[in-house]
Amino acid sequence: MLEIKGISASDGFAIGKAFLFHEVEQRVPEYLITTEQIEQEMERYQQAVQRAVEDLENQIKKIQTTTENRDHHFLEAHILMLNDFEVHSRVKNKIKTHRKNSESAVLEVSNEYISQLESLEDLYLRERALDLKDVSRRVLRHLLQMEQNTGLQQIKEPCILVCHNLMPSDAVSLDRKKVLGIAMDMGGRTTHTAILARSYEIPAVLGIGNITTKVRDGDLLIVDGSQGLVIVNPDADVVQKYYDLQKKYQEDQRQLLSDVFTPCYTTDNVLIRFKANIEDPSEVESALGHGAEGVGLYRSEFLYIRHGLEVDEETQFHAYKTVLEGFGNKEVTIRTLDLGADKLTESWSGPREANPILGWRAIRFCLKRPDIFKTQIRALLRASEFGNLRIMFPLVSGVSELDKVLSILEDVKNELRGQGIPFKEHIPVGTMIEVPSAVMVAEHLAKKVQFFSIGTNDLIQYSLAVDRGNEKIADLYDPLHPGVLKMIKRTVQAARDAGIECSICGEMAGDPSMAYVLLGLGIEELSMSPVAISQVKSLMRNYSRQEAETVVNEILEMPTSSEVAQHLIHKRRNAIPQHHG
Ligand code: PEP
Ligand code: MG
Repeated sequence: MLEIKGISASDGFAIGKAFLFHEVEQRVPEYLITTEQIEQEMERYQQAVQRAVEDLENQIKKIQTTTENRDHHFLEAHILMLNDFEVHSRVKNKIKTHRKNSESAVLEVSNEYISQLESLEDLYLRERALDLKDVSRRVLRHLLQMEQNTGLQQIKEPCILVCHNLMPSDAVSLDRKKVLGIAMDMGGRTTHTAILARSYEIPAVLGIGNITTKVRDGDLLIVDGSQGLVIVNPDADVVQKYYDLQKKYQEDQRQLLSDVFTPCYTTDNVLIRFKANIEDPSEVESALGHGAEGVGLYRSEFLYIRHGLEVDEETQFHAYKTVLEGFGNKEVTIRTLDLGADKLTESWSGPREANPILGWRAIRFCLKRPDIFKTQIRALLRASEFGNLRIMFPLVSGVSELDKVLSILEDVKNELRGQGIPFKEHIPVGTMIEVPSAVMVAEHLAKKVQFFSIGTNDLIQYSLAVDRGNEKIADLYDPLHPGVLKMIKRTVQAARDAGIECSICGEMAGDPSMAYVLLGLGIEELSMSPVAISQVKSLMRNYSRQEAETVVNEILEMPTSSEVAQHLIHKRRNAIPQHHG
């Protein structure tokens, strides 16, 4: 019996025989073409792209005709990537100017984009590199006239899929009756394979490193997706233990999902609202399917990363409209561009900064580049006609900054009025509270906006002076630090006094171990990754706000986070903090 640790990517337990899947390697020829061959090579490229688009369209149609609720929106995103003008012109330029054959031109351009994405700090965006690899692999298969079928279709019996890496388009075609669990060398929690495994409810452990070398076809495996553990050839008593765990888990899941669409009231009748954090319009369906009552944070920067800083108004308008229409009359909070520091695009022209996290990012960047900012605001205002939009500004540090932002918003509104372009007149505007100085002047900010949303990811980083991406000091990144809790409390109070809403959209919101504390701090709206909603919602239903407030008032007087944690454990067993030092 061998136990191997990996990353817990999709919860649940699976027991079955291993099926080892090896992807056929693509050998890409590289050669120079003659001037006469340019046209023919362009044509070959165009046709391969066209066929790739047709494949995807067929795959989408096939999924739509099944009764299973499969997420196929990323396939639409893959079509968008295939239609990306910038990508085409770069590939064509390599063919035309550098005389490269189509295969090597496609490979080079996709590798350029991939390395750009992989160098980003934002894990979600970094993991989009896999989608790009998937799309370019599809085009290359057509160019190389290779079989599109990857071999996964050979799976005939229920099994645990063991592989080095699985492309999202392979993952989407997995038969969930046959694939009981997934164990993979590569990947992390926010790769699309992980996202899909969660939406198909297939337990998965990713990022194991070497599972493909430790397992043979037919070995008995247990995938413990909840702990991020794979057990190879387990003893009989371990197998029995996991059958019991599996049964219990399935019962719990049925219970959780049975009431995810029912409003959540605490035991003392306080309504708590749950919204989704999304990065892309393709996530709308999944967010709704997980019970999201709106979008609390749409990180618009993904559009800029994908299309460059100069992404046009029309492209933005369509993305915003898609999300707004998808949510009907539910609120959709779109955050304006939060780029800079760690998240850069290829067209970023600023110099490298000594302290990028304290540097030219988010609203600071937008105020110095009103051309880019105004384009986004125009697109947002126009899209407001199609749903229930709220606009939110990131990294606001004080009142004068907010004033400048609001005055640009007014300018753009006037511009649209002048041009007779319609938009909704009363769009709620909010500010993120993620800089300590904003907390300290929250009562002034609250007079100027209709809502606050606390970005705890940055608020913790800036309050504790702990770079959120630095593994060396990750143990100091402490959501239960009394200083952080007091900041949240102060913000909630300022919002209450001004009669505006205050929600929370940092990772803390989706962490079940924080739910009790957040309730006690007075938070009534949480925005989180959609898959986290059911668990946090069901926890909240067992809590009394009044009781949580009393406990939180006690912990706010404590000097250290370990005392805070101890007190929470003592007071409330199921509010045990898991992720802090
Ligand atoms: C935050 O800072 O908590 C937040 C939600 O924004 P981001 O993670 O995109 O910086
Ligand atoms: Mg932030």
